[in-house]
Amino acid sequence: MKLIVGNWKMYPKTLIEAKEIFAGEKKVARTMNKAKAVICPPHIFVATFAQGALGTKALAIGAQNVFYEDEGARTGETSPVQIASVGATYVILGHSERRALGESDELIAKKAVAANKAKLTVILCVGEKGRDEAGSYFNEVRKQLRESLEGFPKDGSKRLIIAYEPIWAIGAKASRPATPEDFHEMSILIKRHLVEQFGKTSGFRVPILYGGSVDEKNAEGFLKEGGADGLLVGRVSLDPTRFGAIMKLADKLT
Ligand code: PEP
Repeated sequence: MKLIVGNWKMYPKTLIEAKEIFAGEKKVARTMNKAKAVICPPHIFVATFAQGALGTKALAIGAQNVFYEDEGARTGETSPVQIASVGATYVILGHSERRALGESDELIAKKAVAANKAKLTVILCVGEKGRDEAGSYFNEVRKQLRESLEGFPKDGSKRLIIAYEPIWAIGAKASRPATPEDFHEMSILIKRHLVEQFGKTSGFRVPILYGGSVDEKNAEGFLKEGGADGLLVGRVSLDPTRFGAIMKLADKLT
């Protein structure tokens, strides 16, 4: 089963626009039998769309961040328990745009443990800033995995997804998308870490997604040649026609 995750980032500007996008994507999700879509809107829209997704089996809602405590004097934060209580079931953690705001692997690890405790599925983002001839970027990703998954419970791996998002391939300033080969190579390293941490059977079961300038044209390459278990889509997830095309494509694959 392929998983297509839409990261809406801090878009769109209004609830009215958000509802239009959501309606278009939900319509496609209703036609899906094999794949699953997860929409991650800004926090303010999560409760509305979690309600709206009820009854659509192929559609789930996720948040883009959470804090690491259930409740407390933490102005402006949202807890995993609160996110789960409104019906969301996923959370993106460690996105490069949050790491750029100062989130460390240590902080991400605390959030991941708390989110798992609240029964949210964690979509943990890892990815290198750039690539060098010597291949030190492999160590960068290895370190992120080791430190961001520190303390993550062994039996929690059934609610864990890794998204490999090379930073140089994300967003409007991306130099280029990665290639399916780039993804495949890194997915082997990621799988190796997962097997070491969670054991052979559980580690192998953790899905690995690709993210970074995915669109309706290159999606198939990552899913087929790259062997990705799914995709994390940024900009294109705000366009129901284009994101819908990716959802439909994923639904044709097993
Ligand atoms: C993202 O924000 O996770 C992302 C992959 O963005 P984009 O698809 O726009 O590169």
